[in-house]
Amino acid sequence: MSGTKVVRVPLRVANSYLLMGPKTVIVDTGDPGFSGGILKALQANGVKKEDVSMIFLTHGHIDHFGSAYELKRQLDVPIAIQSIDLPFFLNGTQAPLYPVNALAAMIKAIGNNMQVKKRYGIKADIVFDEELDLRDYGVNAYAIATPGHTLGSSSVVIPDDDAAIVGDLLVRKYFLFGQGCKPPFLHDAQKHAESMHKLYSLGVKKFYPGHGQTILPQDLCRSLQPRPAQ
Ligand SMILES: [Zn+2]
Repeated sequence: MSGTKVVRVPLRVANSYLLMGPKTVIVDTGDPGFSGGILKALQANGVKKEDVSMIFLTHGHIDHFGSAYELKRQLDVPIAIQSIDLPFFLNGTQAPLYPVNALAAMIKAIGNNMQVKKRYGIKADIVFDEELDLRDYGVNAYAIATPGHTLGSSSVVIPDDDAAIVGDLLVRKYFLFGQGCKPPFLHDAQKHAESMHKLYSLGVKKFYPGHGQTILPQDLCRSLQPRPAQ
């Protein structure tokens, strides 16, 4: 199984990704109301509904899982999420937001009480702790826990591409622009550093973030550049 292709689907402020191999996995779904944009992107990339094998969610924030409920109704495929952020997806509420500065605190005041109301009683079908092999779902990739932004955040590593889809592990300095830096919401800074190290040790050089364009090594903040082993 090789030749995994990643297609970014920008949905207003958040990204969804199509991870395409013999089957296609949808990674993250944007805010509520964006399932139509994802279905259009599938069609534009020649992916039939029956070729979609999974909806994978990087973490329990509504701008990442908001349209998962709608999409599940359209596609009837399993939804996967890491166990710690599962309750937020099930409740349609935000995983706790830990702002790192005053601007983030203001954003928290707006975003904290958001809820997804139309949940249609949907559950997650696949819940994992440390690692989930996506080869069983027709793409050469695997998910690993990468806590930090939230405690249940995870990333999808794509060995063919030396890349990972990282949710909000990295956010650009000016949200959609600028260097790739630590996110404005950080639940655990130590775990975040360990997660970055884990991805580097797995050979990840290219990061597909939850917002904005691909982050290459030269786009990374200095504090996040890989360090030689000690
Ligand atoms: Zn987030």
